[in-house]
Amino acid sequence: MTVETVAAGVHLVRGSAVNWVLVVDGQAVTVIDGGYPGDAGALEASLTAVGREPGDVVAALVTHAHVDHVGGLAPLAARVGFPVLTGPAEVRHARREVVEQAGPADVARHACRPRVLAWAVHAVRLGALRSVAVPSATALDEPLDLPGRPVPVPTPGHTSGHTAYLLPDAGALVSGDALVTGHPTTARTGPQRLAAFFDHDPARAAVALDALAPLDAGVLLPGHGPAWRGTPEQAVAIAHSRDAGGT
Ligand SMILES: [Zn+2]
Repeated sequence: MTVETVAAGVHLVRGSAVNWVLVVDGQAVTVIDGGYPGDAGALEASLTAVGREPGDVVAALVTHAHVDHVGGLAPLAARVGFPVLTGPAEVRHARREVVEQAGPADVARHACRPRVLAWAVHAVRLGALRSVAVPSATALDEPLDLPGRPVPVPTPGHTSGHTAYLLPDAGALVSGDALVTGHPTTARTGPQRLAAFFDHDPARAAVALDALAPLDAGVLLPGHGPAWRGTPEQAVAIAHSRDAGGT
């Protein structure tokens, strides 16, 4: 786990396969996403690393309810009792009333690629096949009166209720898996979309990128890959050019 402070009070935490974000304002913390089940300890350690503790978390926001984004968060939320908020269309997924996740069969079809196989083995170790639910998940209500004043940006496609979060004071965009800058399954770096087999609806995910382009930010904090300096408009243009077959 590494913690990179990208703006005052805004920390990108990079676990071994997925990121989360801590937004600190005074004593209070907003957590955005929370890793695999196997990242639960790292999530707590990341709070310690920024001088805070679980009791300082006032709420968690979820970009989407895949196991690598809520697996480490679920036990902490259950223990501490802070609210877990997500886009209205993502709540049923977070509660596991529906599942919109690539399963072992989807991954197996691509496991001839060495990077996909190596990632899958690592992901299973981190608890990718464990059933994770956040029964307390509720729909966020705007405006969000939370550290960082996050503004939700609906970006459906990767999952039906995928939501990015703009942190306007920091000029940072938490893009979740709508727009990433790398993934263990690919050698590509820089702004890009995830491999289509990870998306619940790839065509819709491609369109959702355009919701990010006009946002006013100077740094991208993705669900996977390092922080990327530049505007969302630039990042989206690069991702689209790659979708079109560029490098
Ligand atoms: Zn992810």
